[in-house]
Order: sequence, then C-alpha cells, then structure tokens
Amino acid sequence: MPKFDLESIPRINHCLLPTPLILMERLTEHLGKANVFVKRDDLTGMAFGGNKNRKLEFLLADALLKGSHVVLTEGALTSNHCLQTAACCARIGLDCELILSDSVIGDQITGNILLDQILDVKIHRVKSSSDRKQRMEEIAEVLQDEGKVPYIIPTGGSTKLGALGYVLFMKEIAEQSEEMNLTFDYLVFPTGSAGTQAGIVLGKKLYYPEIETMGIGVGDGREEVIAEVQKIVSEFQEEWSLDLAIRDTDIVVLEGYYGQGYGDPSKDMIDVVKLIAQLEGIFLDPVYNGKAMVGLIDLISHEEIPVDSNVLFLHSGGGPAIFSYADAFSKK
Ligand SMILES: *Cc1c(COP(=O)(O)O)cnc(C)c1O
Repeated sequence: MPKFDLESIPRINHCLLPTPLILMERLTEHLGKANVFVKRDDLTGMAFGGNKNRKLEFLLADALLKGSHVVLTEGALTSNHCLQTAACCARIGLDCELILSDSVIGDQITGNILLDQILDVKIHRVKSSSDRKQRMEEIAEVLQDEGKVPYIIPTGGSTKLGALGYVLFMKEIAEQSEEMNLTFDYLVFPTGSAGTQAGIVLGKKLYYPEIETMGIGVGDGREEVIAEVQKIVSEFQEEWSLDLAIRDTDIVVLEGYYGQGYGDPSKDMIDVVKLIAQLEGIFLDPVYNGKAMVGLIDLISHEEIPVDSNVLFLHSGGGPAIFSYADAFSKK
C-alpha cells in the first residue's frame, strides 16, 4: 500500500490558495470574550467560492486519470456542491450532469440554480432526496451503454479523496498560524455530508495537533454525521496505511443550532447573518455558515469556549444561496 505523501497525490490546482485568514475585529469586540478569526474559504475561487472546490481538486484529478467523459453528482436544487462541481468541470472541459431534488425553499430561478443554468449543465430533477442515488446509478448505466465513462461523485464530494482537500486545509492553517505567530485553540465549522470534518480530523493529527475542532450540525442526524466521518476516516487511513489514533472524542458534532431542520430559515440564523454582514461586511450563507455562527456565538457567550481563546471560524462558502432565501430575509 502507498505511504501518505500529500504532495504526490494527483490534484488539479483550481483553487486560489491559501485563502485569507483574518481577525474579525468588530465581532471580537462585540462579543468581548474570545478572539474570533475567519478562514475565508468562501474565496476559494471557482463559482463564488466554497469548500467543495478544495475537495474537487482531488476528485476531478481522479476523474481525469480514470479517463472519464462525464461527471455525475447529486444534491438539493440549491446545492452548493453541485454548482461548484459544474463550474470546475467546465474549466477542465468535462461534461457534468446533476441530479437535483426539490429544496425546502422552493424553486425560483435564482442563486445556485441560476448559476447551474448559466453553466448549461444537464439537470435531472427528482422529487425527493432519497431518489437521487438510484437515479444517478441509472443515468450512469445509460451513459456506459452509450460508450462513455461516467465518474460518480457521491453527496458533497465526501469520500477519502474529497477529504484530502481539508487535510491540505489543516496544513495551510498550520502554516498561516506560524506566519502570524499565533496558535488557534479552536476550529469551528459547519458539518453536513462529513467530508470536510473527516479531512479536518485527519489533518489535525497530521499538522495541527493542538487545535480543538468542533463541527456544528446543520440538520437532524448527528449520529449519522459522526458515523460518516468515522467511515471516511477509516477508509482514508486504510488507503494510505495511516494509524493516527483518532478517537470518538476527536469527532465533535454539536446540535441545537439549526432551527427546525436542514435549510430552515430560523430567526437566529437570519439575525446572525445580518449581524456578521453589518459588523464585518462578510456574508454568511443561510444553510451552513449562518447556523454554524449561531453555534459559535453561543459557545463564546456561554464561555464554553473560554475567554481570550483564539478561535478560527471556517467560512465554507455558499453565498449564492442567500438569494434563494430572499423572502425569509426581507420578512424577519
Ligand atoms: C457542503 C457544505 C458544507 C458542509 O460540508 P460537508 O463536507 O458536506 O460536511 C458546509 N458549508 C457549505 C457552504 C457547504 O456547501
């Protein structure tokens, strides 16, 4: 089995790296407790940025190595992952087809959906999220029958290859940390399909052992997220013969900050997105970062993150989704 050497793994460099890491001065002052920094992965470059672009550097390199003609992936209609996949495919001249299920927020042609249409990717609509995988398999078979090589990217690009993007991220913040002559005590980030968290948990052991990492759940299913992180972590370690002694306590997923469920425009989220825009000029998205920031502010306010700690918040992108939530933002 190959040994782990990050530099030798095939990768497409489409991200603008390193992304900026800056102090949120006015938020820090506003809270008056911990120091809050933000890692701007909303500025990774492709399709208005976001965390999926990092995963796609490795996933699409693999697709090219396998001689693929068409990339298939799936998500909700407003999916950030699907948009970033479509944009990154455009850049390397691969066809892309998306399997999209109805979103909780309706289907106006705006935000990510509008951008998907501008990219002119083929879209297959299904009613329910539970129909997506099967539909994707069927489409892959049809493509194969036509003599094409399809490349399937599972939900959110959350696989051992996708996780590499966030292993690299941990190396990046360790380097930035050194340049800034400053140690971060906590890394707080939204967690969903678990690939980002798996990469963070692995990369922490490799490059930044002293940081505590906290995922904020953005919908029901905390146990499922943890199980999925464990699965990706173990597949990753098996692939590269690693034994990083990752324990259950390394995989933290906090609940209680997502309102009624995934995609729900909770009042707390709306207030926090407005607060961060007004204090910092930074727009968080309504589905992931708005809710993760509700969590971060709560943890700091209740001093579960101690006073004077240095906290790094991962802004994982998703900005265009704001436009799908126009009603929610103008009402509340
Ligand atoms: C997909 C996504 C996440 C969650 O990342 P996972 O790897 O799926 O856990 C967080 N924020 C944004 C903006 C996303 O699009």
